[in-house]
Formats: sequence, structure tokens, C-alpha cells
Amino acid sequence: MIKAHPSDALLHSYVAGDLNSASGLVVSTHLDMCPHCKRMANVIEEELTAAMAAETENGAPTDGLGDDDMQLMLDAIFSSAAPDEGLVTTKTTNDGLIYLDGKRFQLPRSLARQQERIGPWNKMMGNMWRAPINLGTDEVANLIYMGSGTSVPEHTHKGTELQLVINGSFSDEYGHYHDGDLLFLDGTHQHTPHTSDEDCLILAVMDGPLHFTSGISRLLNPFSSLFFR
Ligand SMILES: [Zn+2]
Repeated sequence: MIKAHPSDALLHSYVAGDLNSASGLVVSTHLDMCPHCKRMANVIEEELTAAMAAETENGAPTDGLGDDDMQLMLDAIFSSAAPDEGLVTTKTTNDGLIYLDGKRFQLPRSLARQQERIGPWNKMMGNMWRAPINLGTDEVANLIYMGSGTSVPEHTHKGTELQLVINGSFSDEYGHYHDGDLLFLDGTHQHTPHTSDEDCLILAVMDGPLHFTSGISRLLNPFSSLFFR
């Protein structure tokens, strides 16, 4: 059961096509996993389409919708239904599977489409691994794998970060998160994410580095680019 969903504002921005590729990828991957938000997105899309159709009618007082109007509306529908079209999509014959730590993970559809853009896995610390996703935006998108019993030192965020649990679970001071949970984090969140018995695969998009806050981990701050880029 997914507990953490995108805010209404984030969902609106997504449907309107206002998010950049990286944030859009996080939201569309959440929608792959969350029927509730998928329905919400469809409702928002219908509202936006109706509003656009009303504008078109006001601008051109004709009887009903002409072919041109219909085409405009279809364009509007499809551009809002596929806000990730800013991504350069490549034909991929990949199967959306990744193998980590002897385990197999099935990527949700939106993420599987970007599989060719997922770079090599690099070890960050302990049993924590990262693979960049090259989306060509200013935001940094990474897949992060935390083995069981892994912990990230306490930190806050200099920018904002969207985190989506793809598979597994992790916890922090605010809660316990499972497949499909989407978290929005910024400078107001100080936390220590950790896994317990289960491992966790996360999609993370951030527009600024972490800032480590406690004890000796403050020494990591000069290296916080480890987590950013
Ligand atoms: Zn949701």
C-alpha cells in the first residue's frame, strides 16, 4: 500500500508538462506504480483539456468543434499525457530488468524506457551503489541501491530531492517507505535514511547536494558531490 504520493501541485505541474525530464520521470514512474495517482492525473488532464477546449471555442465562435479544433485538442491531450516527451526516446529492445547483488529488479515502464540512459553502477559507501541516469537536464537523476543494513549519515538538503522507492523498503525519522512511495525532501528535512533486513532500490532526482549534519559525518561535506553527480 503506497502511503507517500506526489502533492497536488506536483501532479498538476506534471500533467501540464511543466516539469523537467528528471522530475517528470520520477512522477511518471510513480504513476506506473500507483493507480490512485494515475486516476488523479487523468482527472487533471480532463480538466486541463476542457479548459483548453473552452478557450478555443471562445476564440473561434463556431458550431461545435471543427477538425482543426479537434486536432488542437488531441495535440493538447497527447502532449499532456506524455510530459516525458522532452526526453530523447530511443528504441530499446531492453527488457527493463537490472541485476544487482545477485538479484533481479523489474523497472516500471517509464523507467524501463530510459534503460539505455542508465550508466554504470559505482560503489558510494558500504553496500550502497549508484548508477546515473543521463537525461540531459540540470537536475541529477540516479538509481540508488542500498543493501540491507545500510545507513546514510544524517543530512539535510541544500536543494530539493524527489525519491521514489522502486523496490524494497527503507526508513528514516519520518516513516517507513515501500514500493511506490514518493518523497519530497528539502532543507526542512533532516534525516538518516537506512535499510533494515530488506534492501532498497530508489530513483532519486535532486537539484542540489546533501549537507551532512551530525558528528564526524560533517567531514563528508567536502565530498557531498559523491551523492550529487
Ligand atoms: Zn500515488
